[in-house]
Amino acid sequence: MPIAKGYAATDASSPLTPFTFERRAPNDDDVVISIKYSGICHSDIHQARNEWGNSIYPMVPGHEIAGVVTEVGAKVTKFKVGDHVGVGCFVDSCTQCATRDLDNEQYMPGLIGTYNAYEADGTTPTYGGYSDSIVVKEGYVLSIPENLPLDAAAPLLCAGITLYSPLKHWNAGPGKKVAIVGMGGLGHMGVKLGAAMGADITVLSQSLSKKEDGLKLGAKTYYATSDAETFKTLAGSFDLILCTVSADIDWNAYLSLLKVDGAMVLLGVPEKPVPVHAFSLIGGRRTLAGSMIGSIKETQDMLDFCGRHDIVSEIETISMDQVNEAYERVLKSDVRYRFVIDMATM
Ligand code: NAP
Ligand code: ZN
Repeated sequence: MPIAKGYAATDASSPLTPFTFERRAPNDDDVVISIKYSGICHSDIHQARNEWGNSIYPMVPGHEIAGVVTEVGAKVTKFKVGDHVGVGCFVDSCTQCATRDLDNEQYMPGLIGTYNAYEADGTTPTYGGYSDSIVVKEGYVLSIPENLPLDAAAPLLCAGITLYSPLKHWNAGPGKKVAIVGMGGLGHMGVKLGAAMGADITVLSQSLSKKEDGLKLGAKTYYATSDAETFKTLAGSFDLILCTVSADIDWNAYLSLLKVDGAMVLLGVPEKPVPVHAFSLIGGRRTLAGSMIGSIKETQDMLDFCGRHDIVSEIETISMDQVNEAYERVLKSDVRYRFVIDMATM
């Protein structure tokens, strides 16, 4: 069994600490990856701290993985040693069930998360990207275009696809007015991707402190949600609102910013249920929806799109031992715009 070095959460309240563990011996259809960079997603913090109530410890978080192939199984056809590859939020999915849908496998019940889950045997825990290597089935490995730097490409594997998928699904493009709520790790990718698709992008942030960046990344306009005037000025403006916030915000106020037939799509995960008034929806035949990451096929489409448009994440690179400090800074919205761990510092 290959030995991996990583950082793990051992319970919901302790800092992450060094952790050595076994990866499974590679099968014929597996790709062995030397992890070079791993992004820090807010979901890592939710799960390390058991905020969703389903945490398995010890937990090695990390589902924004970018690295280089070091070994391939005999039946692997898509990858060779030296290829730049990525791994996102899941490493296997149901191959049996009747509802299996390869274009939407992220919604299938048999999905196996990159970490905080069990392999298909039901007993071996999966460990994520805050580690120096990983063994993944070929079908769940993504190809990272050679023109994209691996460090800044890592966040595409979750933040990128999480915004790309709803932008595509709700037809963002020329003539569509799209608001991105929250200019964080997910949000800034929404600005870049939506602008590259030709949509008219507005950022709705708590303050104007990141306005200059937002406009530089492709937003046409930028408003502070702490200013009550914003909600008056923008009433009935948007075809689509993508909400990346995980705090309790007033969804009714945001729904009022939609045009007739507009949709607000939840991406962030607030801890508690949020009340929505029926009039917020029926008053404009509006939709309140949700969206979770994207399929493998769609993730590859997104990476190819980013390759063609030279899109990567805005990152702050940190060493592995800075991870706990980085978590605290994410919680204070003090990151521009994604922390990426340099695994050479492990
Ligand atoms: P992040 O970098 O922390 O960004 C969240 C942004 O929300 C912050 O930058 C901030 O933007 C805004 N915000 C924070 N606190 C707020 C408050 N009290 N009121 C209003 N706005 C606030 O996090 P992330 O990595 O982008 O993840 C965001 C959420 O999406 C998390 O809940 C994560 O678990 C979830 N997520 C979902 C999926 C999915 O598939 N649906 C995938 C990945 C992550 P401003 O400073 O601009 O206001
Ligand atoms: Zn994520």
